[in-house]
Amino acid sequence: MARVRLVAGNWKMHGSRTSVAALLDELVKANPLGCAVCAPFPYLAQVAERLRGTRIAWGAQNVSEHAQGAYTGEVAAAMLADFGCRYVIVGHSERRHIFGESDAQVAAKFAAAAKAGLTPILCVGETLEERDAGKTEAVVERQLSVVDFKGGVLAYEPVWAIGTGRNATPEQAQAVHGFLRKRVPADTPILYGGSVKPQNAAAIFAMPDVDGGLIGGASLVAKDFLDIVKAAAK
Ligand code: PEP
Repeated sequence: MARVRLVAGNWKMHGSRTSVAALLDELVKANPLGCAVCAPFPYLAQVAERLRGTRIAWGAQNVSEHAQGAYTGEVAAAMLADFGCRYVIVGHSERRHIFGESDAQVAAKFAAAAKAGLTPILCVGETLEERDAGKTEAVVERQLSVVDFKGGVLAYEPVWAIGTGRNATPEQAQAVHGFLRKRVPADTPILYGGSVKPQNAAAIFAMPDVDGGLIGGASLVAKDFLDIVKAAAK
């Protein structure tokens, strides 16, 4: 994996067949380079079908750490790979904090995804309390150090900036990205995530160690997402 620019949309648990079709129509019309959309499981087949032959990649938002077996409700990495999935988000803060995923579980998910040939997008990031206590670097280092990180994309997502409308300043993002850069293979794309909007994207993406973004809310609005993709391409 080269150190490429990438903007990945995380649709979270939003959408319907109709809204997904409308959003994909707009994205395909623009057909930009350097972007991906991570959709809820039920819509992955629709996304795969609509994006076939386009420049837009797609991925899932979660994956099981288990290869197969009696794990009701889980989805294996091989199943995603089976129908052409490229990316999968692992360790999103909502998975860690709402569903209690541990660092070890996230590491196992990363390994399972990589083994199946997917490109995991590993999310790391500190809470506001941890930042205020001066623990940002220790937290992201702990989250990263348990992962056998090869061939993945890293996303720095401060928890206090996700879905809050409060983004890190470009300098705050750069400081953590610079710290992480020394701890992953040199060609690793490192994305910033946390309330990225068309209005703030260019300044964040101008930082030397920011290679693009992981975009939640704004990825559901075609024009906003495409403007953010454009900002990353500059
Ligand atoms: C995310 O879900 O990873 C995210 C960064 O969300 P938002 O852009 O809405 O803050």
